[in-house]
Amino acid sequence: MTTIGVLALQGAVREHIRSIEECGVKAVEIKRVEQLEDIDGIILPGGESTTMRRLIDSYGFLSNLQDFGKQGKPIFGTCAGLILMADAIEGQENAHLGLMNMKVARNAFGRQVASFEAELAINQIAEDFNAVFIRAPYIVEVGPEVDVLTTYNERIVAAQQGHYLCTAFHPELTDDNRVVAYFVEMVKKSIQTLAS
Ligand code: GLN
Repeated sequence: MTTIGVLALQGAVREHIRSIEECGVKAVEIKRVEQLEDIDGIILPGGESTTMRRLIDSYGFLSNLQDFGKQGKPIFGTCAGLILMADAIEGQENAHLGLMNMKVARNAFGRQVASFEAELAINQIAEDFNAVFIRAPYIVEVGPEVDVLTTYNERIVAAQQGHYLCTAFHPELTDDNRVVAYFVEMVKKSIQTLAS
């Protein structure tokens, strides 16, 4: 059975588990690197990216997550997870996993509008997705291999690079599972590709 992990070191883990299960596949909380061998794709949840990075280092996840991606297994980063996936972060010397060719800005929508909702049309996924933003980052620029899936106020807030997907918002916080379902389809396709 298709099994999708949620990195469970910190952040919005439970909500992702629920939405993966609602899409009809198995969901597992990932707390140890050995568990990566048993899953077909992984979600990096929202939370706080510097805290998550600290925990990624102390549990030895950094190179293991990078290898997971290099094997062709899909990874979906939401909010802080998006920051972890970028290969450049504005105002910081070093990035984290460096999986996607894009530069991100943290807490990009400012303090006054720390949290808000917006209805977005997301390429290939939904015409009218209610996106929940919480101290969200945005994508400042992307390389040629990255597809922009949607923007909010001319800022890129969802993108895909092959088997990597990211959103600046939290798709798991609404009952609308279409973004997570899209990722589940990416994982199912990759299982077929990796088996052939
Ligand atoms: N601003 C947070 C960070 O920089 C991300 C916020 C979120 O994941 N909701 O990590």
